[in-house]
Amino acid sequence: MLSQSFRGRQVRPGDPSYDEDRRIWNGSVDRSPALIAYCTGVADVIDAVRFAAASGLSLAVRSGGHSFPGQSVCDDGIVIDLSPMRGIRVDPEARTVRAQAGVLLGELDRETQAFGLAVPAGIVTHTGLAGLTLGGGIGWLMRKYGLTIDQLLSVDLVTADGTFLKASGDENPDLFWGIRGGGGNFGIVTEFEFRLNPLGPVVLAGPVVWPMAESARLLRFYREWITDVPDELTTAVVHRKAPSVDYVPSELRGKPVVMVVCCYAGPVEEGQEVLRPLRESGTGSAPVLDLCAPKPFTEHQAMFDPSFPHGRWYYFKSCDVDRLTDEVIDRTAEHAARIVSPLTAFPIFQLGGAIARVGEDETAFGGRGAGHTFNINGTTEGADGFEAERTWARGLWSALAPHHTGVYSNFLMEEGEERVEQAYGAQKYRRLRELKRRYDPGNLFRLNQNIPPAP
Ligand SMILES: Cc1cc2nc3c(=O)[nH]c(=O)nc-3n(C[C@H](O)[C@H](O)[C@H](O)COP(=O)(O)OP(=O)(O)OC[C@H]3O[C@@H](n4cnc5c(N)ncnc54)[C@H](O)[C@@H]3O)c2cc1C
Repeated sequence: MLSQSFRGRQVRPGDPSYDEDRRIWNGSVDRSPALIAYCTGVADVIDAVRFAAASGLSLAVRSGGHSFPGQSVCDDGIVIDLSPMRGIRVDPEARTVRAQAGVLLGELDRETQAFGLAVPAGIVTHTGLAGLTLGGGIGWLMRKYGLTIDQLLSVDLVTADGTFLKASGDENPDLFWGIRGGGGNFGIVTEFEFRLNPLGPVVLAGPVVWPMAESARLLRFYREWITDVPDELTTAVVHRKAPSVDYVPSELRGKPVVMVVCCYAGPVEEGQEVLRPLRESGTGSAPVLDLCAPKPFTEHQAMFDPSFPHGRWYYFKSCDVDRLTDEVIDRTAEHAARIVSPLTAFPIFQLGGAIARVGEDETAFGGRGAGHTFNINGTTEGADGFEAERTWARGLWSALAPHHTGVYSNFLMEEGEERVEQAYGAQKYRRLRELKRRYDPGNLFRLNQNIPPAP
């Protein structure tokens, strides 16, 4: 039993809202926990961790519920849910923000952009800040301001024995190193503190779109063009069938397209100059749609929301590559042309810039030197056609296998220990295992991209 004074809601099988409460973003995940404990504050988290440890049941930790493989819900165990903890406090003078673990990215942007400030984070507003940050955090501002963890100043955390700790560069620095990329392995973070940086609020951003048949030509132009673009520009190349959304003209909907989605985190006029070569000679022919325009950053952040709603069935295979070689480009174009589902869309993120200026060993995050990260995503409305999309995603991933350099831990499914080690590299993985032995020797926090304690 949780303590009498536990303040949050407790949901169990048979409760009227149980089926709603056990749901997460990925509709293909269907698990039935014995208890969902909604925590309203640190005291609830301490209670819930102690209870879970004593019960011997498996424990899942949920903040935004966006884990690709659904590790934030479990069968027959306990879900510690942080979603009621939504406080955000910006200090515009110190240029810092404190955000509790249940905050979603759109909520953080709303508060920070009120002051023309921002934390670099992900590209969909309903993603949870907690899981994203603990894995690293990539998004539209990363080449200018780094990963989300590169702006992290400190965390409050509850460890496996229910102890409350702070971690920062000065306090428990080893733990602070580990949680910057090592995921939820070391404890439950209840609150984050970030440095803020100036942004917009208006930025030049949006997609420039061509028919997918132009993919190989576009990618060859793109790889040369990005070699000397400034760090203010972050892009992602997306292949998909054009979605049925307001901003896509009806005649283009459902047609296979390739788009370069841009965000320029600097003066709009400067961005227009940087983007000119892409727009004018990207494939040698004019784009079929160009939605890259000055707009509030928060509007750009919401652009992908309709493409990744809650409840669809999603499957992912991901990898980093150094460069878009001819071989990488040709395999990508070839497999993209075979996409069947109108909902499947896969981004290839451009890395580099500020990410690569932080040393590989300064944080647990692995792969700062990679050029691009592929997030190959097969999506369907439900079970119908899902197996075919999985097969397609695996096919492209396998075709790229000779070029894989690593993988971003937040983009992994349940792929086994070897893949988790690949995300960090052997040396850092050993260091993370030592750290895990110190902070969670019994591996209470194991429903994650698990780092087993060193023996
Ligand atoms: C639609 C969508 C868009 C995405 N876009 C991006 C993107 O642009 N950039 C990017 O980097 N990633 C992106 N991701 C991946 C994302 O970073 C991970 O899915 C991340 O785990 C989501 O965090 P969450 O809090 O929503 O997830 P949850 O499912 O709640 O948590 C995932 C895992 O994180 C751990 N965890 C969660 N909360 C805590 C906590 N408070 N303390 C300790 N551990 C915790 C647990 O191990 C849990 O299993 C995206 C995911 C989705 C579904």
